[in-house]
Amino acid sequence: MSEHKELKLEEIRKEAEERHCPVQSALYYLEKFLSDPMCGKCFPCSFGTYEMRIRLQDIVSGKGTEDGIPVLRRISNAIIESSRCKKGKDTAKFILQWIGTDGFMEHIEGRCPDKECLAYIEYRIAPDKCTMCGECKVVCKDNAIIGEKKKPYLSGYLPFEIRQKRCTKCGECVKVCPTNAIEILDIKAAIKV
Ligand code: SF4
Ligand code: SF4
Ligand code: SF4
Repeated sequence: MSEHKELKLEEIRKEAEERHCPVQSALYYLEKFLSDPMCGKCFPCSFGTYEMRIRLQDIVSGKGTEDGIPVLRRISNAIIESSRCKKGKDTAKFILQWIGTDGFMEHIEGRCPDKECLAYIEYRIAPDKCTMCGECKVVCKDNAIIGEKKKPYLSGYLPFEIRQKRCTKCGECVKVCPTNAIEILDIKAAIKV
């Protein structure tokens, strides 16, 4: 393997590890691997990696099931054992290190502990922290926030609210809220609120 390719793998690893969520991290690494043309010399890699991508995408989008975990583990092990190149083996090893970790398994139970998988989170405004300044509404490109900016000389205002059906979970509102009133909740927990 050339020095150039070694360097690229190291870069991909670093970029993948910038994601805190283990499923996001594994999927990122795999997507990068698949973005190069598939040489197709080894059966487990040339077919298994596409199956792995489907399984990881399912988990990220909230559709993962427990039986997907042994499938991912089986494919990873097969690639590690039979692949001819370091690139294929390293990709499978990277994914395997996350499979079965607590963070990975929590997705199967309906939660992304790092709150990076959008399917598992919801943005909400805590009414007691909202000062009705209107900053969040200004930056929301999806027109997902309702509320009227408070005028100091008038009373009767209500805290701002996020319309969940319109919210694309871009996170822009969180950046501008001066009182940290916008929280990212687990959907499971948010349903109970
Ligand atoms: S493991 Fe390497 S040589 Fe084998 S199919 Fe994958 S990329 Fe090609
Ligand atoms: S930016 Fe924060 S404080 Fe201001 S209206 Fe929005 S949620 Fe309320
Ligand atoms: S997360 Fe994005 S789309 Fe959702 S309310 Fe905030 S700014 Fe709007």
